[in-house]
Amino acid sequence: LLQPDLVCIVCFGSYDLAMRLPRRLHCGHTFCQACLKRLDTVINEQVWIPCPQCRQNTPRPRGGAAGLDLDLASFLGVKAQQTCTSSGLCSIMFLFAQSQGSCDWQRIKALICCCM
Ligand SMILES: [Zn+2]
Ligand SMILES: [Zn+2]
Repeated sequence: LLQPDLVCIVCFGSYDLAMRLPRRLHCGHTFCQACLKRLDTVINEQVWIPCPQCRQNTPRPRGGAAGLDLDLASFLGVKAQQTCTSSGLCSIMFLFAQSQGSCDWQRIKALICCCM
C-alpha cells in the first residue's frame, strides 16, 4: 500500500479535513478545495473549473467546488495522518517517519501508533 500524495500541487499545502479537502476533477486530477474554489471560469455562460494540470474543463457542480467528488485515497490518507498526529509525541514520530522518506505507510503507522 503506497501512501497517496497528500499535498496540493497548486498551493503546496497539505490536504486537511476542512478547507483543503482533496477533491477530484472529471479528468482524474486532484487538488484542494480552496484552490478549486478560485479557479472558476465562465465560458459561454456556463461556469467551468479548468484543471491546472491538464487544462481540461470540468463543469462546476451546483454549490461550487464543494460539490465535486472527494478523492478517497487522499482523504483516507489525511484521516490516518490526523489520527496519528493527535498527540505531541506522535507528531514527532510522524515527522521522523516522513524525513526517512519511507512510503511503507503501514510500517510508519505501526511505528507512530506504538507511542500513543
Ligand atoms: Zn491547493
Ligand atoms: Zn486534469
